[in-house]
Amino acid sequence: MTVSSFHPPRRMLMGPGPSDIDSRVLQALGRPVIGHLDPEFILMMDEVKGLLHYAFQTTNQMTLPISAPGSAGMESCFVNLVEPGDSVVVCVNGVFGGRMVENVERCGATAIKVEDDWGTPVNLNKLEDTLKANPGVKAVAFVHAETSTGVQSDAAAISALAHEHGALVIMDAVTSLGGTPVMVDEWKIDACYSGTQKCLSCVPGISPVTFSDRALDTIRGRNHKVQSWFLDMNLIMGYWSSEGATRSYHHTAPVNTLYALHESLVMLKEEGIENAWKRHRRNHLALKAGLDALGLKLIVDEAHRLPQLNAVQVPDSVDEALVRRRLLSEYGIEIGAGLGALAGKVWRIGLMGQSSSPRHVTLALSALEAVLTDMGVSTGQGGAAAAAQKVLLA
Ligand code: PLP
Repeated sequence: MTVSSFHPPRRMLMGPGPSDIDSRVLQALGRPVIGHLDPEFILMMDEVKGLLHYAFQTTNQMTLPISAPGSAGMESCFVNLVEPGDSVVVCVNGVFGGRMVENVERCGATAIKVEDDWGTPVNLNKLEDTLKANPGVKAVAFVHAETSTGVQSDAAAISALAHEHGALVIMDAVTSLGGTPVMVDEWKIDACYSGTQKCLSCVPGISPVTFSDRALDTIRGRNHKVQSWFLDMNLIMGYWSSEGATRSYHHTAPVNTLYALHESLVMLKEEGIENAWKRHRRNHLALKAGLDALGLKLIVDEAHRLPQLNAVQVPDSVDEALVRRRLLSEYGIEIGAGLGALAGKVWRIGLMGQSSSPRHVTLALSALEAVLTDMGVSTGQGGAAAAAQKVLLA
């Protein structure tokens, strides 16, 4: 068998991530490889840390990109902060809260679940009752933006409750960072992780993380070694610490991927993070207007909707997988399927990072309308793209 170069098809990425990537970021990937301890590379690493401070809205010294995807960022927070015998309250209102439970249990700790229905945010009363009933928990963990449902929870309020009860706060910001406000210092989040492939519009495979001084003290005061050698922050800091000349080898950093992250963060800074948040909201409202015109409904209440992840209820009797397949094969548009309890019931339309644009909104709506009409599905008043344009031009 002859194997030749791989040339992926061109797609519009409008699922739960990865999102579309600007050519500036792709070009950065193709720059010459230099050593991961090269003085020039170390200067760039310092800039990446500074740019991540901006993205996370923090001054936390321990802020850096983990050389692995969001799941490793998640794991880095749990393995460094949680020890055998601890108990951790985990808010579960979708797939990723469930993964946090797995992480806690694999650290030899007890996970105390606060469960909410998929499609609803973390219920603060339930959380408070749980904290009152379980004094001395080590941490409260929650997913800020649940990608499986399109719900955003009230991070500031969850964090305040956790601190009232003396617990650390671990927050998943994989889907929120760059798309909606993530205010690590203002909200007093102790450990926060994200991913590069969503609203930062960089290639997948890197997980920015940040740890507060309180979290650092907890890590330094551990009774047991961190169970993961690769994710032990004490060791990673030897490579990412600010004293450039003394940086030591920990692992071979993904040099070119970090050039790409640097470029995507420079683009975020150029746009201004508040403007990025506004852009995500505006394009979401335009998509919503178009979906209304098609008689399609979002499953999440308006007050808790994520602009960057829109979970759309699939109308009865529509073959949801066929719609996704046709959007991909006939229009090159990727949207996401439902996960877990929502499998077969929703489409997940992502408007993340570079995929949050008027072009994406109007083309996706036109294509969706065409496919549904062709399948004989009644589509409300129609004119979805025009309805979106009205919002965009207002
Ligand atoms: N947390 C959330 C909320 C996510 O949406 C994802 C990925 O979709 C992850 C964690 C895991 O990230 P990754 O797939 O990069 O490992």
